Amino acid sequence: MVDVKDLYDVAIIGGGPGGMTAAIYAGRGLLKTLIIDKGALGGAVLLSAHFDNYPGFPGGIVGFELAQRIQKQMEEYDVKFEMDNVTSLRYLDNGPLFEIVCDGGTFYAKSVIVASGSNPSTGCADFPVGINATGK
Ligand SMILES: Cc1cc2nc3c(=O)[nH]c(=O)nc-3n(C[C@H](O)[C@H](O)[C@H](O)COP(=O)(O)OP(=O)(O)OC[C@H]3O[C@@H](n4cnc5c(N)ncnc54)[C@H](O)[C@@H]3O)c2cc1C
Repeated sequence: MVDVKDLYDVAIIGGGPGGMTAAIYAGRGLLKTLIIDKGALGGAVLLSAHFDNYPGFPGGIVGFELAQRIQKQMEEYDVKFEMDNVTSLRYLDNGPLFEIVCDGGTFYAKSVIVASGSNPSTGCADFPVGINATGK
C-alpha cells in the first residue's frame, strides 16, 4: 500500500535547469510536485563560471547566480525538494504508479520527468530505468 504522503502527481529526477523548469510548470499547474537531485539544485549550471548565451541576460550571468534565480522562481510554487540519489525507476506492479527508489527512501508518482542530464562519456542516465518501449 502506497503511503499517500509519498505519492506525487509529478516526480522530477534531476534539479538542473531542465528539471527546475519542469517543476515551475508543474507547480504552477497546482500539481503535487517533487524534485529529486543527488546534489545541490542547479546541475551543470553550477560548474560554469559565466553564461553569455542565456536569453534575457544581456552581458551574461554568472552560473551560480543563474542557478539561484531559477531555484528562487521554482520556490514561488509548492514544489518539494529531496536531496537524494535515484537508484532505480519502474512501474509499480504494471502501473499506474511509478516507483522511484533512492538511497534514502522510496517515492511514488503518477508521472515522472527524467531530467538527469547525461553522463558525458555514455550519454545515458546513471540509474536503471525499468520501463520498455511500450511504457511497461
Ligand atoms: C563547465 C560547463 C560550462 C557550460 N557552459 C555553458 C554555457 O556557457 N552556455 C550554455 O548554454 N550551456 C553551458 N553548459 C551546459 C549547461 O550547463 C547544460 O546544458 C545544462 O545544465 C543542462 O541542464 P539539464 O537540467 O538538462 O541537466 P544538468 O544540468 O546536467 O542537471 C542534471 C541533474 O540531474 C542530477 N542527477 C543525475 N543523476 C541523478 C540521480 N541518479 N539521482 C538524482 N539526481 C541525479 C544531477 O545531479 C544534476 O543536478 C555548460 C556546462 C558545463 C559543465
